[in-house]
Amino acid sequence: MTKQKELIVKILKAYGHLTAENVYKFAKLTMPNIALGTVYRNLNLMLENNEISKISISNGPDVFDITTKKHNHLVCVKCGKVIDVFENIVNLKKIKCENANILDYNLSINCICDDCAKTKK
Ligand SMILES: [Zn+2]
Ligand SMILES: [Zn+2]
Repeated sequence: MTKQKELIVKILKAYGHLTAENVYKFAKLTMPNIALGTVYRNLNLMLENNEISKISISNGPDVFDITTKKHNHLVCVKCGKVIDVFENIVNLKKIKCENANILDYNLSINCICDDCAKTKK
């Protein structure tokens, strides 16, 4: 494992869900010479190897997640915080699709996190 990749893994483990930009920001603190392209390259390689997963956020950049155990996400519409949900929310057997077989799903569900709900008052 390269030093760069080692660092990226460490950052993802420490901070949970991060955009590539944020991984880059944290990586620069330890490795000031690291290039954004290097971060992207490593993240893409890790994606290909199923070491991390990518979550699509409807109104923001993709977020990378090192938790490979199957799970879904709640995404706060206010602050963009990503919360893991490990419960099986969707029963795939109950969903009937015409002309297609569902293989897998990857949900991100919009929510308002507790912190944002509090500050709204
Ligand atoms: Zn929030
Ligand atoms: Zn997650």
